[in-house]
Amino acid sequence: MGTGEINSVAVIGAGAMGRGIAQVFAQAGCTVALHDALPKALDDATAQIGKMLDRAVQKGKMADGDAEATKRRLNTVSNLAELGSHPLVIEAATEKLEIKLDILRSVQKFVDSDGILASNTSSISITQLAAETDFPARFIGMHFFNPVPLMKLVEVVSGLQTSEDTIRRTVELAKYVGKTPVQCNDHPGFVSNRVLMPMINEAVFTLQDGVAEAEAIDSIMTLGMNHPMGPLALADLIGLDVCLDIMSVLHRDLGEDRYRPCPLLRKMVLAGRLGRKTKQGFYSYE
Ligand code: NAD
Repeated sequence: MGTGEINSVAVIGAGAMGRGIAQVFAQAGCTVALHDALPKALDDATAQIGKMLDRAVQKGKMADGDAEATKRRLNTVSNLAELGSHPLVIEAATEKLEIKLDILRSVQKFVDSDGILASNTSSISITQLAAETDFPARFIGMHFFNPVPLMKLVEVVSGLQTSEDTIRRTVELAKYVGKTPVQCNDHPGFVSNRVLMPMINEAVFTLQDGVAEAEAIDSIMTLGMNHPMGPLALADLIGLDVCLDIMSVLHRDLGEDRYRPCPLLRKMVLAGRLGRKTKQGFYSYE
């Protein structure tokens, strides 16, 4: 096998991110064990991945045989005890510290003796998660972006105890699945959310202050700054609850006023206007 190639991977959590991660590893030629606490999430993931692969075949972007082989490499595992041992296990479950700590305690035994355990967390400290395992030197952040099959970046986040060897191998693994890895150190928000979320938050303050309507704020950022999407439309896509959670982590952990979540963002979340997923955010999606 070439550099970075592995035979198998286990992915924990089959939501929006886990299913995408499972798909890119299966497409790269790797056998995938996809686990979720909810059997329905596994069924939905299998159906959605199947649909995406079929669409790629219809568009002439993938050979029929490759799509079928990719589907065969994807195995769902509803009973965690049957996960098997893997050179790479990626945790991509719900963004709650207690859930992640619980999962890491139980999945570390499924990592090969020299294997890597990675988390796709957006905002939880890699150093803190690593400390919960018996091998923090082989723990790392592998931060994929949504939708995983389309987005090139993997932010490779090293915790305080992550070894150089683990960083090097993770970079190779990200390249193996066709991604572009960029390294950074563990710090609240890493690079991506440290820069993105305050911009989104500032756009919400701008709206709250009545400087301009949502459409105008987004147009200024798309037309003037060449952003593919305005910050308020992007917030709707990410989920306003997710944006609020990440801003709250930045505010708490960096301890500076400039990271305080905008009151309008809080109000939107309290009202259940979470963006596209509830069909109402800064825009309506009926
Ligand atoms: P999601 O809510 O779509 O999926 C989470 C899945 O985890 C659910 O299917 C849930 O059933 C499962 N789960 C919960 N507890 C579990 C357990 N104990 N064992 C196994 N499975 C369990 O969430 P998502 O958007 O896929 O996010 C997953 C992770 O990826 C989070 O850490 C999030 O911060 C991160 N992330 C999300 C995005 C994004 O844009 N959505 C981008 C980058 C990183």
